[in-house]
Amino acid sequence: AQCRNQLNVLFLPYPTPGHMIPMVDTARLFAKHGASATIIATQANALTFQKVIEDDFSCGYDIRTQVIPFPADQVGLPDGVENIKDSTTPEMLGQISHGISMLKDQIELLFHDLQPDCIVTDFCYPWTVESATKLGIPRLFFYSSSYFSNCVSHSIRKHRPHENLVSDTHKFIIPGLPQRIEMTPPQVAEWERTKNETTGYFDAMFESETKSYGALYNSFHELESDYEQLHQSLLGIKSWTIGPVSSWVNKDDEQKANRGHKEDLEEEPQWLNWLNSKQNESVLYVCFGSLVWLPHAQLVELAHGLEHSGHSFIWVIRKKDENENEDSFLQEFEKRMKENKKGFIIWNWAPQLLILDHPAIGGMVTHCGWNSILESVSAGLPMITWPIFAEQSYNEKLVVDVLKIGVSVGVNENTFWMSLGDEAMVRREDIVKVVMLLMGSSQEGKEMRKRARKLSDAAKRTIEEGGHSYNNLTQLIYDLKSLKISKALTEAG
Ligand code: UDP
Repeated sequence: AQCRNQLNVLFLPYPTPGHMIPMVDTARLFAKHGASATIIATQANALTFQKVIEDDFSCGYDIRTQVIPFPADQVGLPDGVENIKDSTTPEMLGQISHGISMLKDQIELLFHDLQPDCIVTDFCYPWTVESATKLGIPRLFFYSSSYFSNCVSHSIRKHRPHENLVSDTHKFIIPGLPQRIEMTPPQVAEWERTKNETTGYFDAMFESETKSYGALYNSFHELESDYEQLHQSLLGIKSWTIGPVSSWVNKDDEQKANRGHKEDLEEEPQWLNWLNSKQNESVLYVCFGSLVWLPHAQLVELAHGLEHSGHSFIWVIRKKDENENEDSFLQEFEKRMKENKKGFIIWNWAPQLLILDHPAIGGMVTHCGWNSILESVSAGLPMITWPIFAEQSYNEKLVVDVLKIGVSVGVNENTFWMSLGDEAMVRREDIVKVVMLLMGSSQEGKEMRKRARKLSDAAKRTIEEGGHSYNNLTQLIYDLKSLKISKALTEAG
C-alpha cells in the first residue's frame, strides 16, 4: 500500500522505442528513489518491458504498468503495430499520434482515478498541460532528445533563418546559440521548415513546454551545460538533467537488463562469441535506431562501403519489405562476411547497450537518435553521424561541431517521410573514407576517441551519489514532495 507521504507519479510515454525506453527507465529510477511509479502504456508496448517492471516490483520497488488499448484499426494500422522492434516505421508516426490522441478522455479518466501528485508526460502530448491544471498538479514534460536540439528548434521557430535564402545549399547560422553553428535549409526538421496544417500539432507541443512546471532531460550537465542554460532563458522554466538514465537504472544489474529485452538474451549469444574473438576497439557498430530502414540502393552502398573499409563491423539491418533482389544480395553478403570474419549481421533488433559496452567495439555509425548518441557517449565511443529524419541533423551538429566526438558521413538533407525512392544518398567511397578516419590510426580519430572517453567518465560520475544527475533527481523528488505537502495543507484549509 502507498504511504501518505509517498510521491505518486504517473508516466505517460509516447509509444515508440526512442521515447518509451528512456521514460520507462526514468519511471524505474523514480521508484528506486522511493516514489510510487505508474507507467501508462499500450498493450504491445507494455509487453516489451513487463518482465523488468515485475522484477523491480518483486525487489520491493513501487512500480507498475497501467495498460490502455491502442485503437489501431481506427487509424488504419495493423494491430500491435506500435510494438517496438520490427514493425514501426517513420511513416506511421502520424497515425500513432492520432491513435493516442483518440485516447485523451480515457487517459484523463485514469489521471482522475489514480490521483497522482505529478505527471511526467512525453512532450508529444500538449493537451496534458490542461489535464494537470484540472488536477492542480505539476506537469513535467520529458524531452526525449538533447537540450541542444530543443534550443535549435526554438531558435529556428522564432527567427526562421532558413527562409528566403537563395538556394538549398546556402548555409545560415543558427541565431542565439553560444557557438557558431551552420546549417542548410534541408537540414531543418520538416515540422519547422514550412508552416502548414500538419505542423499545427508541433506548434502546440512547443507552446505547451513553456506552460509546464518543468522539463526532464535524459542528458547530463557535463555534456551540454551551455545549452541547459540557454534552454532556461529561452523557455523560462526549470529543467532537470537526470541522465544517462539507461546506465543509471541498470547500474547494479550484473546482466544489464537492457530495457526490457532480457528475454531476448540467449545464454551465449553469437554476437558475443564473435566480438570476443576481436581485438579491443577494432569493431564498428552500425545501427539506425528503431524506426529507420534504408532503401535497397543505400543498403547496397553501405554494404560495399563497410566491406571495402577493411574494418570489422556489426551491422543491425531492419528490412521494410520482402524483396527477392535484396534478400539474395544480403544473403550473399552475410555469407561472405562470415567466411572472412569481417562482419556480423543482426536482423531487426540488437541488444545495443550490451554490444556498445563490449571492449571490442571501437565506434558507432548512428542515425543520431538521441538515445543512441547518449549510449555511444556513455560507452566512450566516437561516432560516424548519418542523420535521416526529425531533429537528427541537429543532434549531428552537437556531436560533430560542439562535442567534436564524431565525423559526418555527409548527408545534407532530412527525409522525414522517407520519400527517397530507391536512392542512395551516401556513396560507398564516402563511407570508406569516414570509417577509415574513425577506426584507423588518424590523429583526428584518436582525438575524438580521447574526448569521447572523457565524456564517458563524466557520464559515470554524474549518476553516482553527489554527481549532478544524482543530485538533480534527489532535488526534484524533494521539490515535488514539498508541493504535495503544501497542496494537502491548502486543501485541509
Ligand atoms: N535499440 C536497440 N536495438 C536496436 C535498435 C535500437 O536496443 O536494434 C534501442 C537503442 O539502444 C535506443 C533506442 O532503441 O535506446 C532507439 O532510440 P534512438 O533515440 O537512438 O532512435 P529512434 O529509434 O528513436 O530513431
